Amino acid sequence: MINKAGCGSGAACPARRGPVEAVATPARGGETFMKWPAIGYLRVSSLQELWEAQRTHGTAAQILAGGQTLLATLAFRLAQPGVLLDITRIPELRGIALSDGLLRIGALTRHAELGRDPLIARHAPLIAAAVPYIAHPAIRNRGTIGGSLAYADPAAELPACAVALDATLHLLSAQGERRVKAESFFTGLFSTALAQGEIIAAVEVPLGSPAQRSTILEVARRSGDYAMAGIAAVLELDAAGRVASPRLTFFGVGSGPVLARRANAALAGRVLDEAAIAAAAEALEGDLDPPGDLHGPPELKRHLARVLLRRALAQFLPAREKAA
Ligand SMILES: Cc1cc2nc3c(=O)[nH]c(=O)nc-3n(C[C@H](O)[C@H](O)[C@H](O)COP(=O)(O)OP(=O)(O)OC[C@H]3O[C@@H](n4cnc5c(N)ncnc54)[C@H](O)[C@@H]3O)c2cc1C
Repeated sequence: MINKAGCGSGAACPARRGPVEAVATPARGGETFMKWPAIGYLRVSSLQELWEAQRTHGTAAQILAGGQTLLATLAFRLAQPGVLLDITRIPELRGIALSDGLLRIGALTRHAELGRDPLIARHAPLIAAAVPYIAHPAIRNRGTIGGSLAYADPAAELPACAVALDATLHLLSAQGERRVKAESFFTGLFSTALAQGEIIAAVEVPLGSPAQRSTILEVARRSGDYAMAGIAAVLELDAAGRVASPRLTFFGVGSGPVLARRANAALAGRVLDEAAIAAAAEALEGDLDPPGDLHGPPELKRHLARVLLRRALAQFLPAREKAA
């Protein structure tokens, strides 16, 4: 059991005076009855406190945000950090705002907030549309966008949305800050460009033009399950129905989000019609090299990806847009 300093908001609460530190202790008679490994917990309330805690605990420390993935991995003993650094009280990691032509989404923004925020609905509707596909309401009420991007599950929706929207991740560490394009951030299966001690502070999404269209679709065994295959699609359509800047991005079909370069090249500059969609579906073959998994063999994933591509693009055909 993690001994969280859940002390409410009274003046006596140590969290009001500084970092809270606690260590799980044996439950009875020296024997340890717990699902999680014995672990330290430290709640920090500023970036400065975080850097200090990282200096003290080094590689034994692990960031805790919504806990919706991390606590499960602890229970399964897939991770065994020495101390969890709870970042949920750091104000710089919160908030959704427009600044310098970008929509800045703080890393601690919870999935449920993404789904109801008016700025996201207006400037990044793809992200709002992704939310109902993520797990279940209880998980969406705690899980954060920063946690989802840092965990980098290849079947997760938000990493694919970040790539499709050509977003940039704002990273912070005791050494300073840097910005990394989402496309370069995901480096492999559950791996990212985050360096030791670095955190995601925010996701910065370029504001789309009025010509921008977006959609997200997926196939999952049950509602709320991770996707067997999914597509996050962003493109622009001019008045003549010509496609510009397509960024079809697939999830659940590779070791991370897959920006479908060949399919995007097949679409760019063409009037969107059935022939253009067929050309993109054919080109997609060269973009994907899906592994087989518990859902089925690679060919099943390829088939699902082609079907999803056709369905997603068909939504933007002029006749369908008029009818919608
Ligand atoms: C049953 C179940 C079903 C789920 N289904 C889906 C689904 O369909 N689609 C989906 O996308 N997700 C799904 N999830 C995962 C969920 O979206 C998680 O909330 C999310 O992946 C992790 O966010 P978190 O804030 O809970 O992160 P945590 O669990 O706190 O942390 C996850 C990892 O990210 C690191 N981390 C967290 N925040 C930061 C940060 N700001 N900077 C650097 N590192 C950080 C942590 O150290 C840890 O390694 C599911 C989870 C469960 C339990």
